[in-house]
Amino acid sequence: QYLFDVEALRADFPILDRKVGGDPETAGEGEGDDTPLVYLDNAATSHTPDPVVDAISDYYRSYNSNVHRGIHQLSQEASVAYEEAHDAVADFIGAAGREEVVFTKNTTEAMNLVAYAWGLEELGPGDNVVLSEMEHHASLVTWQQIGKRTGADVRFIDVTDEGLLDMDHAADLIDDDTEMVSVVHVSNTLGTVNPIRELADVAHDRDALIFADAAQSVPTRPVDVAELDVDFLAFSGHKMCGPTGIGALYGREELLDEMQPYLYGGDMIRRVSFEDSTWEDLPWKFEAGTPSIAQGIGLAAAIEYLEEIGMDRIEAHEDLLAGYAYDELEALGGVDIYGPPGDDRGGLVAFNVEGVHAHDLSSILNDYGVAIRAGDHCTQPLHDEMGVAASARASFYFYNTVEEVDALVDAVREARDLFA
Ligand code: PMP
Repeated sequence: QYLFDVEALRADFPILDRKVGGDPETAGEGEGDDTPLVYLDNAATSHTPDPVVDAISDYYRSYNSNVHRGIHQLSQEASVAYEEAHDAVADFIGAAGREEVVFTKNTTEAMNLVAYAWGLEELGPGDNVVLSEMEHHASLVTWQQIGKRTGADVRFIDVTDEGLLDMDHAADLIDDDTEMVSVVHVSNTLGTVNPIRELADVAHDRDALIFADAAQSVPTRPVDVAELDVDFLAFSGHKMCGPTGIGALYGREELLDEMQPYLYGGDMIRRVSFEDSTWEDLPWKFEAGTPSIAQGIGLAAAIEYLEEIGMDRIEAHEDLLAGYAYDELEALGGVDIYGPPGDDRGGLVAFNVEGVHAHDLSSILNDYGVAIRAGDHCTQPLHDEMGVAASARASFYFYNTVEEVDALVDAVREARDLFA
């Protein structure tokens, strides 16, 4: 049924064996917890397998030290591991090398880094930045506010009724005054997989740059920055089996070279006098202060874990589960599903059950141990366009099973019948 041994992988995630249902105040103590957990909130954050937890605890137990600063053994070991984590990310996404990989806190910080370091310098009245209506607030709010500060116009590519980008509209909006096109690769609400390469071609034809928000794509499918021909790309470690507190910004080397730092301080300088300072080489120029060392090492371990499964097989597994969930939810009746059909989307399904508020639905599902997300998923303007304040979203990862999708669908049926 599956392309890999899902049960064997699940054994690396003790949290998946948890039971829920007790008082959250007694979390971890097991009191009242008697319902098996069905975790379908992976687009918000994924779980962390034992090899990643081990890599992080091994760092703290055996070579915890600050990086780049000491010549003592532990500092050298930590520096090598932290720097090599950049190489692992570069390899994973097809970047030329560690110069093109800046570690950030998350996707949001990577987006802000470019908006501040590049946008504040390069944008002005008469320029425009092109986003899409399905952008996450991480990109939407950031460019909106940078637009206000610089006087640049911020434009939005329409989303069609099928939940796809209107590429004719994109070609109209992207013009000679466009400086940046910033579009989400896989929508965290609609599941749409956007044609980033096609957009990159349109953007580059107009001498604009393109930034792909890859928070939902890098964890779930093969992503190659050279194939996509993007100038910037960002993602978060916590959505791909890594820890929180670490994400990455890919940037083309010549662009990062030209950009001024976003944060100033230790570690990012080469020479400092009372009058002036010069900057460290890439990528360290953009990593001021003590970085998230353990988290960077954890991210590298997560990448190793994912590569062992194979990103193409993870993508196929997600297709299987999302397609099945889409069909089963649709077959229930009384369920509105957002975004493109099941076989043409990333591994998530956002929906509403007619007559049931998404928060009530999520709360009833929680009683069945089924963890989903309810809300606007940080895409409020898109929800406005969809004509709803909130939606429920089930999102899958390689450790989810068809039986878990069945548990979701059964619980949604119960909820629907309860409110009927
Ligand atoms: N973009 C997309 C498409 C996302 O799904 C998310 C996370 N929900 C983000 C950006 C922001 O990620 P983070 O909160 O890790 O910065």
